[in-house]
Amino acid sequence: MEEKPSLLGLTQEQLAARLSELGDFPSYRRAQILDWVWKKRVTDFEQMTNLPPALRSILASHFSLHPLEVQEVHLSQSGSETRKFLSRLAADGELIESVIIPAAIGRGGAHSERITLCISSQVGCAFGCRFCASGLLGFRRNLSSAEMIGQIFAAEKITGERVDNLVFMGMGEPLSNTTNLIPALRLITDPALLGLGARHITISTSGHVPGLKLLGECGIPVRLAVSLHGASDEIRSQIMPVNRKWSLEQLLPALEDWCAHSKHIITLEYILISGMNDSLSQADLLSAIARRLNAKVNLIPYNTVEGLPWSRPSEKHCRDFCQHLISQKIPVTMRYEKGHDINAACGQLRLRRS
Ligand code: SAH
Ligand code: SF4
Repeated sequence: MEEKPSLLGLTQEQLAARLSELGDFPSYRRAQILDWVWKKRVTDFEQMTNLPPALRSILASHFSLHPLEVQEVHLSQSGSETRKFLSRLAADGELIESVIIPAAIGRGGAHSERITLCISSQVGCAFGCRFCASGLLGFRRNLSSAEMIGQIFAAEKITGERVDNLVFMGMGEPLSNTTNLIPALRLITDPALLGLGARHITISTSGHVPGLKLLGECGIPVRLAVSLHGASDEIRSQIMPVNRKWSLEQLLPALEDWCAHSKHIITLEYILISGMNDSLSQADLLSAIARRLNAKVNLIPYNTVEGLPWSRPSEKHCRDFCQHLISQKIPVTMRYEKGHDINAACGQLRLRRS
């Protein structure tokens, strides 16, 4: 069945164009519709009470509102309040996962929370990194712009709070879906629609060189995280098949181009996998790359994935690797991830009900 397009996927101009095709409506109707969709977040066209009934029924017969339905919410037991939610996509019933990561911020005795939301950009992933649960699934399909945005609406409904930071680190390779990613970013950053500042958005890529170029050209000043995970072609190609397509020789100049145009520094994500990429000689090469790109490094001790043979190095070894970078004056953070117990940490997202 052909699914009706969701209003969450239309820009103001596209909505105006569609409305003028559908009838002779005064222009303020568009503003009213946008207000119902983006600010009041109605779930049914009948709730748009200041629109004439005829217009409501025209809208209902041509558009849908919410492209996904939340099926399950899991709360981490670690005390971190991390929540993973599973959604069913209205278009074809496929399942995706998203993760809500709150961070408490205390100011002058006041206590409040910032919400970071990690969203999926595809169902499954075609890139098959050897360590990643999403890659195990293979690729099923791209998410539409509305399905990416629908995850934000769902998270805000679950928490009752606004999402402050958005990271594309769920399932999928966002830069192999620039066709839908870039329009989604336009809708998310439009102050009249979702209005989240581009500096609060991070795109994570495994090193999709043509996608990187397109994202740079679109001119939306988002932040970039690169899943490096190996500091030489030899190691990287063993765990990330994408490196055989775009090797470091192609990736690093593309990242230099990105840096030349971006206000923000790049983050190099580096999972530490025991016996695979955690030698100090890799740390030296990683330092050289970070220096070349003026990037910061985020070390992530590997999160175990059922069915995969990899493991996390000892805590001491992780600290030694980290110290090695610090001694070379590389800005580095090491993050033990939240939500490990509910398989919500990076790379643990897969289509499975628990
Ligand atoms: N496809 C994009 C975005 C999704 S993956 C990318 O690869 O960047 C989000 C992050 O989780 C990536 O840095 C990825 O390499 C990392 N990751 C994958 N499996 C992991 C695991 N088992 N433990 C820790 N991080 C993992
Ligand atoms: Fe895909 Fe990223 Fe997982 Fe690699 S790490 S398989 S690119 S989601």
